[in-house]
Amino acid sequence: MSLREKTIAILLFAVVLSSAALPSCCNVRGRRIIEETRFLMGTDVRIKVSIGEIDDELQARSAIEKAFKEIERVEGVFSVYRPDSEISKINLLRKNERLRISPEAFSLIKRSIEYSRLTDGAFDITVKPLVDLWHAAKDNNKLPADEDIKNALARTGYEDVALDGAAHTILFRKEGMALDLGGVAKGYATGRAIKILRDSGIKDAIVGSGGNLYCLGKKTDAESWTVAIQHPRKKDKVFMEIKLSDKAIDTSGDYEKYFILENKRYSHIINPKTGYPAAGHVISSTVIAGDPDFSDMLATAIMVLGQKGLNIAGSIRDIDAIAVFERNDRFIVMTTEGITGRYDIKEEKL
Ligand code: AMP
Ligand code: MG
Repeated sequence: MSLREKTIAILLFAVVLSSAALPSCCNVRGRRIIEETRFLMGTDVRIKVSIGEIDDELQARSAIEKAFKEIERVEGVFSVYRPDSEISKINLLRKNERLRISPEAFSLIKRSIEYSRLTDGAFDITVKPLVDLWHAAKDNNKLPADEDIKNALARTGYEDVALDGAAHTILFRKEGMALDLGGVAKGYATGRAIKILRDSGIKDAIVGSGGNLYCLGKKTDAESWTVAIQHPRKKDKVFMEIKLSDKAIDTSGDYEKYFILENKRYSHIINPKTGYPAAGHVISSTVIAGDPDFSDMLATAIMVLGQKGLNIAGSIRDIDAIAVFERNDRFIVMTTEGITGRYDIKEEKL
């Protein structure tokens, strides 16, 4: 795959940034936007529904309520921060102990393992021991010891998760393994919320949580939704706007959750091969796909894989990606080939 490359030398800005992909809309003539934001899954989840002047606002509000309830339910299944979640119960399993799990958990874990194969292990939900280690490093402002990284690495590996499709069970082949679906669950929840909105008769809406968005239908009869991608080093600057309809878009980056120690930035995305935070010079990665859990997963994987991840995106039909690389004091934007022919894109210099 050939890649378009743009290089512009600029100064670096160490700024803490907020949400990655933001919907831009409002004051739409002939339409009303019904909007609500709630704090769920550790982030602000926003739902916007576009309805006509004579459409029933109460119906839209009831659909939004149901969609939020669904996201809350999904959080209850997959959150590692809730001791009563299904994932937390799975994470108590000892080596070779079998647990029967729900079809929903089974299905998302199975898909996540398929994503690990697709990305050659760059995306791996068994990274939890490493994620915990790096959380502690952030809290203590102290890098983990090599020995601790080695020990945590020994407890990871998607190939050591055994799923039995007939019995619907899961088993870890190593002691001390645990799952973290933080790289895919928000996208999954977004997809579920979109399904609820659709089933409730909503045709035009946006669901967004953190860097994850799904654009259902259009903003107006004539216009798609416009999604703005944030500059990875300047909080209030947008570097790209894309018009989307019936598509998921997800941005991962090193600028929301990270810490800096001895002038080095450590992001919340871990390279499962090294045990260290991803350091492949990608500082922002955006994926457009039909399926929001796929875009969530691949955006995370591209942070680890860099250009190889873009190549994977480019090799799959209907998948596109945009990555910002940082090399010395330069930002380089790379995209999958032909993206500008498929989408209406407005780009600002970085
Ligand atoms: P995202 O913000 O979607 O890129 O997901 C990042 C989150 O996914 C982290 O906070 C971890 O919980 C988890 N994670 C970190 N590294 C990986 C990885 N290599 N593969 C899968 N999940 C990861
Ligand atoms: Mg992700």
